Amino acid sequence: MFDSLTSRFSTVFTSLRSRGKISKGDIDATCAEIRQALLESDVALEVVESFVAQIAEKSEAALATMQSGTNQANAIFEIVNTSLAEILGGQARRVRFSKNPPTVIMLAGLQGAGKTTLAGKLAKFYADQGNTPLLVASDLQRPNAVTQLQVVGESIGVPVFAPEPGNGVGDPVKVAKAGIEFAKAKQYNMVIVDTAGRLGVDADLMKQASDIRDAVKPDEILFVVDAMTGQDAVRTSQAFLDGVGFDGVVLTKLDGDARGGAALSITSLTQRPIMFVSTGEKLADFDIFYPDRMASRILGMGDVATLAEAAKKAFDGDTSAKLEAKFASGEDFTLEDFLEQLSAMSKMGSMSKILGMLPGSGAMKQLGKNGNFDEGEIVRTKAIVQSMTPVERRDPKVLNGSRRARIALGSGRKVSDVNNLVDRFSTAQKMMRQVRNGGMPAGMAGMGMPAMAPSKPAIAPKKKSKSGNPAKRALEESQ
Ligand code: GDP
Repeated sequence: MFDSLTSRFSTVFTSLRSRGKISKGDIDATCAEIRQALLESDVALEVVESFVAQIAEKSEAALATMQSGTNQANAIFEIVNTSLAEILGGQARRVRFSKNPPTVIMLAGLQGAGKTTLAGKLAKFYADQGNTPLLVASDLQRPNAVTQLQVVGESIGVPVFAPEPGNGVGDPVKVAKAGIEFAKAKQYNMVIVDTAGRLGVDADLMKQASDIRDAVKPDEILFVVDAMTGQDAVRTSQAFLDGVGFDGVVLTKLDGDARGGAALSITSLTQRPIMFVSTGEKLADFDIFYPDRMASRILGMGDVATLAEAAKKAFDGDTSAKLEAKFASGEDFTLEDFLEQLSAMSKMGSMSKILGMLPGSGAMKQLGKNGNFDEGEIVRTKAIVQSMTPVERRDPKVLNGSRRARIALGSGRKVSDVNNLVDRFSTAQKMMRQVRNGGMPAGMAGMGMPAMAPSKPAIAPKKKSKSGNPAKRALEESQ
C-alpha cells in the first residue's frame, strides 16, 4: 500500500546520495519533497508538519558533524527511518493478558472494517500460541455476521458463543455478557467479542458499543479500521476514541492500494498504538504491527524479519528437517521437494504480500506483473508437477519432448508452461545447492522461485528418447 510513498522516498534519497556535499538548501529541498509525498499519501497535515520539522532539525545537526555527501545522505536516511518508526508508534505493543482469565478483547469499528474477519484471525493467532479463545458473536446488526463468525470459528477449531437461532434478533449486550459467563464457566482463557458496526459514525452505534464495553469490562478494546478509507479513517478513529474509547488499533486492508495516510497519522493523533495489521481476506494475512519494520518497508528496505518468521511458520519442522537430512546425505533437491515447498508457500498468504516484504518491493511487484505472475501460478505449477511420473519428478533431465507434451496434456497446460517450470526448477535447484554450501536456510531458498524467475520460455531438449522403439519408450516414460 505504500508503493507511491516508497518510490518517492527512493527518488529523494537517490538524488541526495548523488551530491558531493549536502547543503542546507539540499535539506530544505528534501524536506519539501517529503512533505509533498506525505500529503499526497493522505497523511494528516499536522502530522506531516511536525514530522518534516523534526527531520529538518535533526538533519541540520547531522550535517555539521560529517564531511562526505554519502555519509551525510545516509545519516539523513537514518533520521527519516527512525522518525517514521516513531510516528508509527515506536515500540510494538502486545495484548495485555488479564491476571484473572479470561482476557477479554472487544472489537469495535464501522461496518465492513473487517471486525468479524479479524476476530477469526486473532482467535487463530492466540490459539496457535496455546491459548483457549472463545469467540462471542455480538454483531447482531449485520445479516450473516453470526454465521460468518461460526464458519470462521469452525475452520480454526475455535468455539463461537452466539444467540440461539430463532430466538429473535437478540440483545447484543446480553449475548456479550452471557459469553463472558460461559467462558468463565468453561475456563476459556480469552474471549474475543465481535460487535456491530454501522456504515457511518452515529449515536446508536456508540451507545451500543459503550453498553457492551460496560457489560464485559474488556482488558483491551481494539478499534478496527479500514486503511483504505484514508483521512476518513482518522476522523472515525477520533469519533470512536471520544465515544467508546480504545486501547489499540488494528489496520485492515493494508493489501489495498490506499496511500498509507491512516497508518502514518492514526497513532500520532489518537496516541493509541497500531497493534495488528490485516493484509488480506485469508486467515494467514495477519501480522503483529512493528513500527520499525513498517518504516523499513516504507523506505524500500523491505521487511525481511517478518518474511523470515512467516517462512519459519509455513515451512514446518518436518519439511525443513527432511530437506536438511537430504542435503546432509548428499541428495539433490527434486521437483517433489519443489512441490512441497510450493504447498508450504501457499500457507504464507498471498504472493503480493510476500513480494511486498522483500527489499526493493516496488521493483519486485513490477517484476511480478511483468513476469505474468498471478496467484493461480501455484495451482498451475502443482498441476504440472502432479502430472509427472515419480522418476520425472526426481530427475527432470529425463524430460524429453514427448514427455513434456504428455505432461502438458495431462495438466491441461501448454508445453511452453512445462518448459518454463523446468527452467525455474533448475534455478531453484542451483540455489538449493548454494544453500547446501552454506548460506540461507533451506526453507527460504526455493521460496518465491515460481514468482520471481522470469517467465522466458525454455527450449525443450532436442535430444531424442534413448530408445527408438515406441513400446520401449512408452515403458521408459511410464516410470
Ligand atoms: P465487519 O463488518 O467489520 O465485521 O467486516 P468483515 O469482517 O465482514 O469484512 C468486510 C469485508 O472486508 C469482507 O468481504 C472481508 O473479506 C474483507 N476484508 C476483511 N479484512 C480484509 C483485509 O485485510 N484485506 C482485504 N482485502 N479484505 C478484507
